[in-house]
Amino acid sequence: MATELSRIRNLGIAAHIDAGKTTTTERFLYYTGRTYRMGEVDDGTTTTDFDEQEQKRGITIYSAAVSCPWKGYTINLIDTPGHVDFTAEVERSLRVLDGMVAVFDAREGVEAQSETVWRQADRYRIPRLAFINKMDRLGADFERSVESIQARLNGHPLLLQLPIGSADEFRGVIDLVERKAIFYHVDEMGSRFDVVEIPADLRGKADDARRILIERVAESSDGLTEKYITGGTLEDSDIRRGIREATLKRLATPVLCGSALRYIGVQPLLDAVCDYLPSPLDVPPVDAADAKKSGVTHKLTSDSAGPLVCLVFKIVSEKPVDLYYLRVYSGTLKANMRLLNTATGEKENVSRIYRMFAKRRDQITEAFAGDIVAVIGPRNSLTGHTLCEQRLPVLLEAIRFPQTVISASIEPKSSKDRDKFEEALRAIVRQDPTITVTTNVETGQTLLNGMGELHVEVVVHRIRTDMNVEVNVGKPRVSYRETVTVSAEAEGEFDRQIGGRRHFAAVRLRMEPRARGDGTVTGTFRSEVSTEALSTEWSQAIERGVKDCAGSGVLGGYPVIDWVTTLVDVRQHETDSSDLAFEAAGRSAFYAAMRAAGPALLEPIMDVEVVTPEDYLGAIMTDLNARRAEVRDTSMRHDSRIISAFVPLSQMFGYVTRLRSVSQGRAAASMQPSHFAPVSAAEMKALVG
Ligand code: GDP
Repeated sequence: MATELSRIRNLGIAAHIDAGKTTTTERFLYYTGRTYRMGEVDDGTTTTDFDEQEQKRGITIYSAAVSCPWKGYTINLIDTPGHVDFTAEVERSLRVLDGMVAVFDAREGVEAQSETVWRQADRYRIPRLAFINKMDRLGADFERSVESIQARLNGHPLLLQLPIGSADEFRGVIDLVERKAIFYHVDEMGSRFDVVEIPADLRGKADDARRILIERVAESSDGLTEKYITGGTLEDSDIRRGIREATLKRLATPVLCGSALRYIGVQPLLDAVCDYLPSPLDVPPVDAADAKKSGVTHKLTSDSAGPLVCLVFKIVSEKPVDLYYLRVYSGTLKANMRLLNTATGEKENVSRIYRMFAKRRDQITEAFAGDIVAVIGPRNSLTGHTLCEQRLPVLLEAIRFPQTVISASIEPKSSKDRDKFEEALRAIVRQDPTITVTTNVETGQTLLNGMGELHVEVVVHRIRTDMNVEVNVGKPRVSYRETVTVSAEAEGEFDRQIGGRRHFAAVRLRMEPRARGDGTVTGTFRSEVSTEALSTEWSQAIERGVKDCAGSGVLGGYPVIDWVTTLVDVRQHETDSSDLAFEAAGRSAFYAAMRAAGPALLEPIMDVEVVTPEDYLGAIMTDLNARRAEVRDTSMRHDSRIISAFVPLSQMFGYVTRLRSVSQGRAAASMQPSHFAPVSAAEMKALVG
């Protein structure tokens, strides 16, 4: 059955690790009637964490899209990871979401990772609701959590509820719009609740909070401002309309509270998702670049009658064929369609379409603009590719993935497994665009590159258990980068007899540094040699040679970033020059010019946040200083100290274990890649000799 577009909610839940995202998701699935028994994170039976490993670690890593029907709406729930090593997964999910619920721990308020996700959501202009979870926890502080949403996120919190009691005394919530109290029957997993008058002792507080809510709502909508001024108040339906408008314009973040664990306050959160978060019709048109006419952009609205355009945002390996998760941006996707992948230029079949539920999938015949579905049929598409109808070939903006900062050598234990091993690596790269596989030119070893220690560990585990390949894995190492610091010129020459023929070419290149980017291999090749003096074909051969070298520099074979090379001059021979000779000469000129241009080694710097009780501050700071940390800030968050610092990744191996031991398990850290910075001369000597 097709759901009206206005009744679809493409939703993500984001949170700092342990704030309760998995538990909240689990409750959503239970109340929307799609799971058969309530899962508990702590006994590893939750539904979205299909992966055995996720259950073991208790964290959600791979996002799964699950549809939940709620009061005539379809909520497509895209699970997002809570661990810092997986920011790319968050980013990828945000791309296809229209709205987000940010879950906070009522004791901690805003934490590092929620701040990161919040900023990412700002970038994608995603309207949000805030759920202050764990109100039952000792030390839960609703007001302070709300304040932190304003102070740390500038999130304009708008209270829709007040908690009734807190910690052990937490019983329910006050709905400020309806002016009612809701008490939950915990023994029936919160499925039953009583809606009653607000208890007398909370009435004054609730009235004040409601007044503020109405004023804020009236301010954010012209029509309502006038109504409020003349009438002195607003009808409930106006209040709801106003909350929706303010949320969609991102002028406010409605705040709700509860305890997912104790089954309190989850259904009102589902209601709020439907009432206040955008449908696919509420989001601005998406830009799609015309694949044929450069510079031409099409605006795609969620129109099922428009040309079909879908984005592949997730691929899950399955036997016998992979499952592709798509968001349909425009048009109607039908089973057995033949689509064009504009990134590869190849045709792909969509043979079946599924709506995914937590524990089953329903085959459907069509999916409309605005919806999120899974399909089988495509074979050679990757995450971020656009699939579309041939009558309008377009490219949706690619998904941004951060650079890898860590790598480990990997090989099959037995050489007879080599084919299986290579197939496993290909499958991993297809599913997880933040993993790359490269070869160390000097040693010939295969390297698995990822976003952090845990990320690489998780991938290796998948290779071993899901794909049944026994592998030897080296210690994870930092992925350095190389660059140049000054401008210099050099020549490379190639002159050899091959196959009874002489191949000759000489190439002169200028190498120059350019502003630091994000760590991607950002090299530009330019030519000052005219096309009369050198054929386009040979110029391209030189460019191939140059780009080939950029994958591994002269210092330690690391990728070379932030450079510009200019072809200044060539020498060629009337009869003896060739493609092969120019490519090889381009290569040797690149290395010669790089050596002359002050090559330098860059290391990844992590943005680290440590939260600790005051008592351990001294010990932690001493330890951080020994790790070459640049401490940026130490602030207080109720009784905890928060340290923000930039620390080289090379100094962060095993940090979590160390932190646990200096703080007797009381401090916590999170980190994410920030930028690349030059290593000191002494270290460079130690690293590259
Ligand atoms: P995630 O990392 O954000 O997915 O968090 P989880 O849902 O896995 O929860 C982390 C831990 O907090 C688990 O031990 C949960 O049982 C617990 N937890 C989740 N929600 C609540 C809550 O409302 N109250 C309390 N006291 N604990 C909770």
